[in-house]
Amino acid sequence: MVNRELIARHCICCAGDRLDKSAAVLMPFVAQRVFGHEPVEITADWGLRDLRQGMAYTLCNSLQCQDCGALFLDYRFTDEQMAALYHNYRDDVYNAQRIRFEPGYANVVPHYHQRAAYLDEVEAWLAPHLPEAPAVLDWGGDTGINSLFRERNRLLHIHDISGVDLVPGAERVDFERIGQNQYDLVTCSQVLEHVSFPQEMVARMLPALSPNTLMYLEVPHEALVREHPGSLELAPLKRHWHEHINFYSEDAMRRLLERLGLVVVDVLRLPVDVGWTRGEVMGVLVRLA
Ligand SMILES: [Zn+2]
Repeated sequence: MVNRELIARHCICCAGDRLDKSAAVLMPFVAQRVFGHEPVEITADWGLRDLRQGMAYTLCNSLQCQDCGALFLDYRFTDEQMAALYHNYRDDVYNAQRIRFEPGYANVVPHYHQRAAYLDEVEAWLAPHLPEAPAVLDWGGDTGINSLFRERNRLLHIHDISGVDLVPGAERVDFERIGQNQYDLVTCSQVLEHVSFPQEMVARMLPALSPNTLMYLEVPHEALVREHPGSLELAPLKRHWHEHINFYSEDAMRRLLERLGLVVVDVLRLPVDVGWTRGEVMGVLVRLA
């Protein structure tokens, strides 16, 4: 596995080094939380002879792998920076800070407290592969409000770093407990688009799999990727980065997973319209080789 690069020089999915690069800005809310940067206006008072005056934002690069099509932010945040970005995620302080930079976020907040309706369709898609009441591990499942098979399971385990209260019937588990169980389904939804080292993250989940376990990984199928199928010229079109620092093509997901020795069983593409993602999700069902 490629070493952790804090400014990526290799693809986060296939480890290739043919990356197209284009300048972009890191949105102020993220720049503020991660780096402590505030947008600033460079004025004549600065006395800088060779720089033009105007607004300065945190600069970054959009990178697109020319082998698998993965499109991602060049910065790969450290664990500490990630913790700063997601500290008390969506609590009142977080929301207020974010609304200061992004007034439209106020309309999104109420949606996070409801279960997303499209999950019924994901369950219907998965059901033929699973027992009637599956044993489920939700990796990064937060409260469990959006856990798959929440209403129809033999057990529902949640592995999540946050200490939030869980929905009734769900149980929080650590690595040791995970190793003592046989799961029918391991899920990780709406996580891999946020993390700096997605392959490393999926690798950490592998000990939870037995030969009969299925793993369901879900990410947004972002509009930019969807609207330019197969394009390797997306970097100049991606001018800003926010919480989603990785945009996956189907090929990129496949390459990431196959490098870990996983076999793709099926791929789901589902239109969705909920507060936190509008457009389409891509779900990939895999098992051990
Ligand atoms: Zn790649």
